Amino acid sequence: MNYKAFLIKYGEIGVKGKNRYLFENALLNQIRYALAKVDGEFEVTKEQGRVYVEVIGEYDYLDTVDALKRVFGIAAICPVVHVEDSGKEALFEDVKKYIKETYGQKEHTFKVNVRRARKDYPIKSMELNAMIGEQILEAFENMKVDVHNPEIMLNIEIRKKIYIYSEEIKGPGGMPVGTAGKAMLLLSGGIDSPVAGYMVSKRGVEIDAVYFHAPPYTSERAKQKVVDLAREISVYTGPIKLHVVNFTDIQLYIYDQCPHDELTIIMRRYMMKIAEHFANENKCLGLVTGESIGQVASQTMYSLACTNEVCEMPVYRPLIAFDKQDIVDISEKIGTYETSILPFEDCCTIFVAKHPVTKPSLKVIKRSEVKLAEKIDELMKTAIETTEVIEVK
Ligand code: ATP
Ligand code: MG
Repeated sequence: MNYKAFLIKYGEIGVKGKNRYLFENALLNQIRYALAKVDGEFEVTKEQGRVYVEVIGEYDYLDTVDALKRVFGIAAICPVVHVEDSGKEALFEDVKKYIKETYGQKEHTFKVNVRRARKDYPIKSMELNAMIGEQILEAFENMKVDVHNPEIMLNIEIRKKIYIYSEEIKGPGGMPVGTAGKAMLLLSGGIDSPVAGYMVSKRGVEIDAVYFHAPPYTSERAKQKVVDLAREISVYTGPIKLHVVNFTDIQLYIYDQCPHDELTIIMRRYMMKIAEHFANENKCLGLVTGESIGQVASQTMYSLACTNEVCEMPVYRPLIAFDKQDIVDISEKIGTYETSILPFEDCCTIFVAKHPVTKPSLKVIKRSEVKLAEKIDELMKTAIETTEVIEVK
């Protein structure tokens, strides 16, 4: 079928009242960003509460649909056939050709839904509905009318050209990125944090990221894996500014000064502090992590309370009540799983204690941190100053 346009249906953003145009504009921007990587020339427009992607010349249909399926805010994508307005007889023929090519011999119920975007068209919508319905019934034995609950809603929009569409491809839902501020994602090389970033971004939040790197204990390949994960989620989230913090000296210092069973918690607290620094610097409104209750010792309710305590800004944990398998399912769906399971070490696994505390007490942790007083500020300052920023898109 020769589709020349896509009608984009959006869900929640339709109900945003006076600010609706902001949501629509963000959606248009995100669609343009997604299509920039696809072969073909596209024009993205909005009019009368509808968003259209018009195709100019040759293009790759499957790649286009794939790209649109990753734009948050899209509820459905309807491939549209254009025909010239050459009178009603020509239109009847075009519609019949469309039905034949799209549905072949299969039995279906249908309803015709004509909409005149151009009121100077000589036949009224209701009349045209009836005429086209009759034409279809005459031409196809496999088609039956059902006005209440049709399987096929045959939409015919009369504009400068006539648009015919009936198929709907499900979009990802959510809200367009750029409508809900920005957050700083703590992105590790694991399965969870890329999924967490994806989920928050699905609600319209822009994402920047920070990764704690511990060379030579963690390799260049471990870092590359995180850059790859950032790139993989950026097809949904838009460009990501990834901060790579050299965390080695801080980790070694904590390792030297503090009880080893508290290591992970104390380390996490410094990660959060540094992440918050970059979040403020980049006008982020919150932090995002891939934590989930009880997954490991550092994610018990006690541990989470300890790590949470260092942050002044809200910490969003979209996976907090998810089972691991559910997280794995999402990571497979969004395409990060294969990268996440590559076997490169991460800084937490190297310095992890044999028996980490599962019920840390904030008072005890804070007392241990006093032992870091001499050098920690200087080390944090250096870590922040030497951070490498990578623009990922
Ligand atoms: P993930 O699969 O996201 O790595 P995980 O199950 O391995 O999670 P942890 O290693 O305990 O869990 O990490 C919990 C969260 O802390 C991560 O989801 C991530 O947000 C953050 N985090 C952990 N290590 C790092 C790191 N090296 N750099 C940045 N963030 C990290
Ligand atoms: Mg991890």
